[in-house]
Amino acid sequence: MYDTLIIGSGPAGMTAALYAARSNLKVGIIEQGAPGGQMNNTSEIENYPGYDNISGPELSMKMFEPLEKFDVEHIYGIVQKVEDMGDFKRVSTEDAYFDAKAIILATGAKYRLLNVKGEETFTSRGVSYCAVCDGAFFRNQDLLVVGGGDSAVEEAIYLTQFAKSVTIVHRRDQLRAQKILQERAFANDKVSFIWDSVVEEIQGDNIKVSNVLIKNLKTNEISNHAFGGVFIYVGMLPVTSMVEGLGICDQEGWVVTDDHMRTSLPGIFAIGDVRQKDLRQITTAVGEGATAGQGVYHYLESLK
Ligand code: FAD
Ligand code: NAP
Repeated sequence: MYDTLIIGSGPAGMTAALYAARSNLKVGIIEQGAPGGQMNNTSEIENYPGYDNISGPELSMKMFEPLEKFDVEHIYGIVQKVEDMGDFKRVSTEDAYFDAKAIILATGAKYRLLNVKGEETFTSRGVSYCAVCDGAFFRNQDLLVVGGGDSAVEEAIYLTQFAKSVTIVHRRDQLRAQKILQERAFANDKVSFIWDSVVEEIQGDNIKVSNVLIKNLKTNEISNHAFGGVFIYVGMLPVTSMVEGLGICDQEGWVVTDDHMRTSLPGIFAIGDVRQKDLRQITTAVGEGATAGQGVYHYLESLK
């Protein structure tokens, strides 16, 4: 029986583990991939205090290393179900289960699909959701980035180091991204924009993407553009399938908590991007991790 099991080792989960371990709790952290979560998908982080500029994988390792000083147990597994058994909680993967007195859900968010014709067919054949992972495969090509948020604009700028040109297609005529990112994109000669428009269809041959049909939402006109790759950044969806049925999510699937990161079920906490909130950032994720790591200690004390 663990005192607390943390699901997900992104910045939120790793910080919660650090705080819980420093309170001398028996801590396990279950992760399906490398520690760091979404941070591993970005090359430059410029808004994490203490660093002017640090790569996502490097910051991930810097957050992981302090855990090695403590007895945190790292468990590899894809969590499929969380059950509230009353006195304790049960976390099940495909072939095992683990019991804990308290659970911290830190499963983050995943890319939203565009759901247009050709997207699925050409995924990994020119359609990508990760510029850091795939950008270098697109040297000297004309690329399309879909979306108008921080991810789309930041990753479009990142792609200019490989690409011949990067076009951002956005469904409105104003970007959602932070002003500093907007200014950088507008100042970059390789970046251009197609406003008020959406992707209608991604086309290609047997091997890879060759062109994209783009619809202007104001005129309904559809135009055909040659692109060697399409990077899709149209927002995120919460990763909450394992807690479906527990009644702790809002209508869109984000987990609802109070200021102490407690869900409506005693002993189940949620932190980071998976929460219903306004600002999904590394700074907010680690702050919530600290709150929950400490909160679990107080919760367990209250049971004594
Ligand atoms: P995540 O980072 O999503 O981590 C969740 C972890 O849970 C993952 O490791 C995942 O594998 C694991 N997990 C999920 N489901 C399961 C399961 N069933 N079983 C086991 N493990 C599971 N924020 C900034 O502050 N600055 C930036 O510059 C910045 N750049 C970004 C660039 C991109 C391209 C993206 C996509 C995001 C960026 N963000 C940035 C946002 C930031 O990365 C997130 O806000 C932050 O990572 C959220 O942390 P988290 O720990 O809540 O979740
Ligand atoms: P986001 O902020 O939700 O932006 C999604 C973008 O995609 C919006 O511009 C949206 O258009 C557009 N969009 C959504 N559905 C669409 C559709 N079906 N077709 C066409 N366009 C569509 O998502 P994000 O950019 O991935 O960012 C997610 C979170 O991570 C945010 O909290 C963000 O701040 C954070 N993040 C931070 C940084 C950083 O700090 N440097 C970097 C990356 C991400 P509308 O604008 O019209 O809604």
